[in-house]
Formats: sequence, structure tokens, C-alpha cells
Amino acid sequence: MGQTPFCVTATAGSTVFGAFDPLHNIADICETHKLWMHVDAAWGGGLLLSRDHSYKLSGIKRANSVTWNPHKLMGVPLQCSAILIREKGLLEACNQIGAGYLFQPDKLYNVDFDTGDKAIQCGRHADIFKLWLMWKAKGTYGFEAQINRYMELAKYFYKVLKKKDNFKLVFDAEVRTVFYVEQYLPVKFPFNDIFIYTQIAPKIKAQMIEEGTAMISYQPCGDKVNFFRMVFSNPATRQKDVDYLIDEIQRLGKDL
Ligand SMILES: *Cc1c(COP(=O)(O)O)cnc(C)c1O
Repeated sequence: MGQTPFCVTATAGSTVFGAFDPLHNIADICETHKLWMHVDAAWGGGLLLSRDHSYKLSGIKRANSVTWNPHKLMGVPLQCSAILIREKGLLEACNQIGAGYLFQPDKLYNVDFDTGDKAIQCGRHADIFKLWLMWKAKGTYGFEAQINRYMELAKYFYKVLKKKDNFKLVFDAEVRTVFYVEQYLPVKFPFNDIFIYTQIAPKIKAQMIEEGTAMISYQPCGDKVNFFRMVFSNPATRQKDVDYLIDEIQRLGKDL
């Protein structure tokens, strides 16, 4: 009580469910109350490259700051994380160390390309260079085609799983497909047994890793059993790989 909020952090693509906050509504509130609006678009930021899917981040232009990880959906090799601040010069003004012994401001040549005082970390890689190179190679349309393909694969995966009665979707959404393997679950699992069923996803994952066939993440969902989640972010993935993964999970599930 008695504390004054100054910032709202919205999420554009939550890590597990891939949920998007309504950015325009949040921006309205922030404008009314003069709050800083930050958008965590670490995961979902990549959708901005696609004219078909960028609407999910509608309103992001109104944010004061945005974080975006090109090492996620855009597939830049780890690590490549960006923070974008709308007000030009603000990050530099707040953050520069002004260490004259490191970044001599009185150099006798053009210092525009000196990154020292412009970085939020000091002695680190210029990780953004990888993204620049990739963008030069693929182009904006190349990235768009890549993102659209990922979304097509997610849609396909979702459709196939939906038809199968030995998989159950955690909720109905195509953006990120989350599902658990129901084959060996009783229709209504009794609460006391939940700990046993919770082991199904970890067991299937362990076998996939041991056999070197696939590597996908799982996590618990409140008091429900562990479930798998899937996000497509590898340009080499094809529909047959999706079919293979589903077959593989079914094959391993049978042996449990
Ligand atoms: C991955 C992720 C982060 C963390 O980003 P790192 O750069 O890997 O630390 C933050 N927010 C969301 C929504 C993410 O998906």
C-alpha cells in the first residue's frame, strides 16, 4: 500500500503458452497514468517480420521499450538479445559509464562507430553483428517466409494432434502447440496418482535423448501433469519431421 507503480511490463509471446497481451489496451492505461510501458517480446518479436502474423503484436509501437531475442524465433545463433528504447539517446544517457580511461572521447578521429558507451555490457561480443549478417543474407522477405513456414508447421502439428485421441491439447491454440501424451493416462486421473502420470513426459523425453532422436521441452501446468510444448524455429524443419516426432512419441509411449 502507498506505493506508486511507474512501469507496466506486457508480454508478447509468453515462454510456455505463447500468449500475447493486448498491447493497445495496456498502452491506453499507461498513457492515462503516465506509466512506462515495456514489452517483453523476447519470443514473439520475430512475428513482426511476417505481415500475416504481426497483428499479434499490434500496439507494440506505443511501448517505451521492447526486449527482443533474435536468437529465438529468428534463429540467430545464441546469444543475440536486443533492448530497444523509443526515446533516442535515453539508454546511452542513463547507461554510459563515461569511463574516459576506456573510451577516450577526445580521440582525433570519428568515434561514431565506437560501441563502448553504447553497450549495456562492457567487454562482450557485439552479438548483433550475427543478426545483421543474417538479415543481409535472407532479407526481410526471407525472414518473413521463414516465420510463415514455422507458423504453418505449428498449424499442421496442431491439426494432426487434435485428430489423435492419444494426445490431448492443453488448450486450443495454434501459435505454440502444447500437448500432453494421454495414451497411458486414465480418462480422469485420480489426484493421488498424479505424481505417477507426471512422469510420462520426462520418461519419453529421457528416451528420446538417450536414443538421440528428438529434444523437446516439457513442464508442469499448475497441478496438472507435465506436458510437452513445441515451437518451430529451425529453418530446416519439414512436415515429415513433424510426422516423425509424433510417431516417435507414440512409439516410446507404448513401451512405458
Ligand atoms: C526467453 C525469454 C526471456 C529470457 O531471455 P534471455 O535473453 O534468454 O535471458 C524473457 N522473456 C520471455 C518471454 C522469454 O521467452
